[in-house]
Amino acid sequence: ARQGAAVRARAEIDLDALRSNVRTLRALLAPGTALMAVVKADGYGHGAVPCARAAVQAGATWLGTATPHEALALRADAGLPDDVRIMCWLWTPGGPWQEAIEAGLDVSVSGMWALREVEDAARRAGRPARVQLKADTGLGRNGCQPGPDWHELVGAALDAERAGLLRITGLWSHFACADEPGHPSIAAQLTVFREMTAYAEERGVRPEVRHIANSPATLTLPEAHYDLVRAGIALYGLSPSPELGTPADHGLRPVMTLSASLALVKRVPGGHGVSYGHRYTTPGDTTLGLVPLGYADGIPRHASSNGLVLVDGKWRTVAGRIAMDQFAVDLGGDEPPAGAEAVLFGPGDGGEPTAEDWAQAAGTIGYEIVTRVGARVPRVYV
Ligand code: PLP
Repeated sequence: ARQGAAVRARAEIDLDALRSNVRTLRALLAPGTALMAVVKADGYGHGAVPCARAAVQAGATWLGTATPHEALALRADAGLPDDVRIMCWLWTPGGPWQEAIEAGLDVSVSGMWALREVEDAARRAGRPARVQLKADTGLGRNGCQPGPDWHELVGAALDAERAGLLRITGLWSHFACADEPGHPSIAAQLTVFREMTAYAEERGVRPEVRHIANSPATLTLPEAHYDLVRAGIALYGLSPSPELGTPADHGLRPVMTLSASLALVKRVPGGHGVSYGHRYTTPGDTTLGLVPLGYADGIPRHASSNGLVLVDGKWRTVAGRIAMDQFAVDLGGDEPPAGAEAVLFGPGDGGEPTAEDWAQAAGTIGYEIVTRVGARVPRVYV
């Protein structure tokens, strides 16, 4: 993203807002409950290393990633205090498990394949792995099924613990519908989680942490907080779902502002087809502004014709299809000054649209809008 002084577009990352969000979330937790900052997928597009550092400064004591590669990179590059724990949960056959164990990462195990591979890696590493057993309490994705599968996994993990190959540091699970308040699966998952953790503890597992809460459960379900909550989207100041209200309803501040300087403003006559497929035709004489961001930068093509951009104090709608590197907005005859700013989304307090507005325009969720902002867009930390 070296584009010289004239940066075409930028994603401003407000680390003060992120720190404030961490403090807001911590204020919801009982004194013994820790906060994990989820920084997978390059910190939901915000930059994993700066976000991890800021979250730790504000009181997060755990970091979470999907892949072990992400977790190893954090350990190597972020200069974090050694007592900050890093957990990764996406098991991949043949993954860098020996390195993960050597780096002291907590790794998630959902079944016997993974357990055996982690045991082998621990033998090679010559030190015990930190293993967190994942229960499928109803998400239906990864995690071990309750019943005989769980009993086998717990028994085998205890055997491996006694053999010095691993330490069972956590028992954990993940919600399917925590962003839909009152959904019956929430209570059902909590019941299964209680049963599965109770079984493991009766058999002698002594976890340091039990956890199931993501951002929506952190915000709305204190009974699900247990020893640790794993917050992702709330850390970045977005609401997990429209049902849970706006970020401001929870005292959260959006962290990313995406903007670009208009690359061109030109007058066009009425009846002018705009962009591929001519899905927009100018209704009369007007001006078009060119925003130098496209779907290669993560701007969703599905938002063609209804994405919103703030230019010179006014909301403008995307005109025609969003292309790979650029899209047009109809400026309705206005002629903003050269290099005028187009703000796609931000906190909204400067009158700009929000990531949630773009999510709605594209038929998706705010998570996808921020996470997909491409590598070509420099992140500028403020
Ligand atoms: N925990 C796990 C296992 C996840 O995969 C994720 C993200 O999807 C999170 C926690 C964080 O979720 P959220 O961003 O809703 O807080």
